[in-house]
Amino acid sequence: MMKSSDMMKLLRKKQDVKLNDLHPEMRTSAMEILAELRQANPKNNWLMEQGVRSTKEQKKLVEANKSWVPVSKHQSGRAVDIRPYPGNKSVSYEENPAPYQSLGVLAKRKKLGWGGDWGKRDWGHIEMKEK
Ligand SMILES: [Zn+2]
Repeated sequence: MMKSSDMMKLLRKKQDVKLNDLHPEMRTSAMEILAELRQANPKNNWLMEQGVRSTKEQKKLVEANKSWVPVSKHQSGRAVDIRPYPGNKSVSYEENPAPYQSLGVLAKRKKLGWGGDWGKRDWGHIEMKEK
């Protein structure tokens, strides 16, 4: 388990402020996962792309065929999208699966759902499972 002072040092990117809006359980898990990924492989430059999403944003994504659910766990702060940006450029799963596989392993360790397991894959997406 990482010391909390070490974790906070790894969570100083501009986008990380979005962590604050998440559901408390999701926030804790997302912070730990981001910090662990950054510590394990700093060159991957892991960024949190999306945390909370408004209903309007979700509707737009569905219309653009970028999301396929009318209601997403992003809207209640129960999901985040995390992606590697080596050289400040996003890398897809097809280009390099290894970082996404690491994300999936960490998500499962924290009993989170991972979009990489879905029929319609969403490699950077992790979310809380409903109890
Ligand atoms: Zn997502």
